[in-house]
Amino acid sequence: MEKDILKILLSEEQIQKKICELGKQISREYKDKNPIMICILRGAVFFLTDLLKNITEPLEIDFFSLSSYGTSTKSSGIVKIRKDIDTDILNRHVIIVEDIVDSGLTLKYIYDYLEKHNPASVKICVLLDKPKAHEIDIKIDFLGFEIGNDFVVGYGLDYSEKYRNLSYIGILKEEIYS
Ligand code: 5GP
Repeated sequence: MEKDILKILLSEEQIQKKICELGKQISREYKDKNPIMICILRGAVFFLTDLLKNITEPLEIDFFSLSSYGTSTKSSGIVKIRKDIDTDILNRHVIIVEDIVDSGLTLKYIYDYLEKHNPASVKICVLLDKPKAHEIDIKIDFLGFEIGNDFVVGYGLDYSEKYRNLSYIGILKEEIYS
């Protein structure tokens, strides 16, 4: 796997340090709120589990999965639900936990879908954001890192289901997907 990586963008240490800060921030803001953290499968699983270990308040978790149709490195935003949430989120505080925002279309779809269930609030927690790629306005409440438009893998993020188990986040060599 290592030979396919152009450059390490974020080391394991950098990621863990940032997640520790995010965990503290969420713990402060969700004191006595018992939020439901909804992890978007599959890319955000590593992020969710490390984040949970850094939150000191009671919470619940659930999982949501979409398939999007697009090219291998670009989602089209046209999505289909593969796995719905199992929890009733009516009047509950929801935090969406997502790996990366590119155009923002996937997250907007998820946000609008969850809003229809009348939760008390919905906030967005994202590890990586590509602000230059946004096609719509998207408000990220808890953010790890802003990055450029390169295609990245590792720490849960895949290309064709590969590279998720790298402990760092790296830029994938273009020749792998072009
Ligand atoms: P959006 O709908 O914001 O354009 O795309 C979001 C989804 O596209 C993410 O959940 C992720 O699955 C995928 N994606 C976007 N950029 C990257 C990237 O750099 N690396 C990987 N592995 N997936 C990405």
